[in-house]
Amino acid sequence: MQCDKCGAEAVMHAAYSGLHLCADHFTRSVEKRVRRRIREDGLVPDDATPEDPVTWVIGLSGGKDSVVLTRILHDTFAKDPRIELVALSIHEGIEGYRDRSLEACEELTAELGVRHETVSYAEEFGVRMDEVAEADPENMAPCAYCGVFRRDVLSRYAERFDADLMLTGHNLDDEAETALMNFLEGDIEQVAKHFDASLGPLEERTEQDHHVPRAKPLRDVPEKEVALYAQLEDLPAHITECPHAEDAFRGEIQRLMLDLEEDHPGTRHSIMAGYEELAALAATAYGEDRQEYGECERCGAPTGRDICRKCALVEALEGSA
Ligand code: SF4
Repeated sequence: MQCDKCGAEAVMHAAYSGLHLCADHFTRSVEKRVRRRIREDGLVPDDATPEDPVTWVIGLSGGKDSVVLTRILHDTFAKDPRIELVALSIHEGIEGYRDRSLEACEELTAELGVRHETVSYAEEFGVRMDEVAEADPENMAPCAYCGVFRRDVLSRYAERFDADLMLTGHNLDDEAETALMNFLEGDIEQVAKHFDASLGPLEERTEQDHHVPRAKPLRDVPEKEVALYAQLEDLPAHITECPHAEDAFRGEIQRLMLDLEEDHPGTRHSIMAGYEELAALAATAYGEDRQEYGECERCGAPTGRDICRKCALVEALEGSA
């Protein structure tokens, strides 16, 4: 197979576009999609200047997605004094898993010269994920605890670093799966929250003053292409599954999505195109009666309850010790 752009040997065929691309044209097309997404979502504010730069915190796990995102953001903005990048890694305390991926984070950020910070659940909450999975006081999947803790750490540290934006490496497959899950669960309010939290262009999001805004610049790039980019660019990504991963519903959706994409190339793109339009409408509709946020009585984090979910889980874990 030959590259449709230059005739060199192709390394990939994208069934959804029909294109065959060589390594060079493929990596450039991934970078182009990320830069276009940054532009379309209005992530670089017009008033950012070298004297008054903005800080972007990248959630860097050491997996292929966040490693590719960090590298492309670095290459795009390394010489732009309006943007300061900080990579933030979280050590959940998972034996034999996170130590190796943190090595990948350190290697990458040292090579790129990007500031890198690491925080751990052990220091923040006094527990490791291995202990949480073992104790399980709320009878939930480990990822349900881990997701609450991760969101809390990312939000607090984004504020601590005075961040203007928090960026994560969610790819097209991740986002299309989340969209389908929200539909199948019939949860339109969740669709609205998804738009405001991380999906919509910054200026179109309804009021979200209580969190540093999030963005997902890789969300137009399919997972397989992110993996191929990491491989072709020889990036130090750590590819091992977490031993606690067990989201059965997402697993089913993943399999369904793979089958649909195989039979009908372009399904993920069309799901996201329709979903984004609907999510924008839902965000406007729900925005007017959006729940008032107060402060958690324990930690001061924004919450719609007296005690935030993270403090409630920490308390349950302490009670079970
Ligand atoms: Fe945490 Fe679940 Fe991810 Fe493991 S798979 S790191 S438990 S969210």
